[in-house]
Amino acid sequence: MLKINQRDFDAIRGHGEEAYPHECCGILLGSSEGERREVKQVVRAGNTRSDRPEDRYNIAPEELIRAQRQAREQALDIIGFYHSHPDCPAEWSLTDLAEAHWLGCSYVITSVEQGKAARTNSFALLGASEEEKHFEDERLEVALPAVAAMARVSEAPSPGPESDRMSLPDRVRKDRAC
Ligand SMILES: [Zn+2]
Repeated sequence: MLKINQRDFDAIRGHGEEAYPHECCGILLGSSEGERREVKQVVRAGNTRSDRPEDRYNIAPEELIRAQRQAREQALDIIGFYHSHPDCPAEWSLTDLAEAHWLGCSYVITSVEQGKAARTNSFALLGASEEEKHFEDERLEVALPAVAAMARVSEAPSPGPESDRMSLPDRVRKDRAC
């Protein structure tokens, strides 16, 4: 399970819209307890895949090292990564799996349709080794800021986008390009 606050969630999705039609990417800093991870900070990264930025992403090693240092200074860890899928579903691809190496981390994918952020899903990279690694769907819990949560109590309950995000994503073939 990955917990993230609304502001960071919006930042990830906004980054995807800004980068469109290219893929955006970034690093999630936070804390973890078993399979429960909580995002405390979102670090944007540049996509170094200038050959095909529309359906591939790569974070430069220097940016990763910088993020690692930044995390350590705040007693946090790198708990995950995010990227976008321009005009492609928010589902992991075989390329995503092949290029994911951080076991026990969350991989958040946002589909950006015609420049607008659509669905955002999170997948946990599980397995004891590189050979055994695999993605599993994980719950993405978006926590409202305390003030907004209080304000919401007086509002009439509505399904809203949250319940939409919680529903199961449409299953698609895993071998597509993005
Ligand atoms: Zn991808």
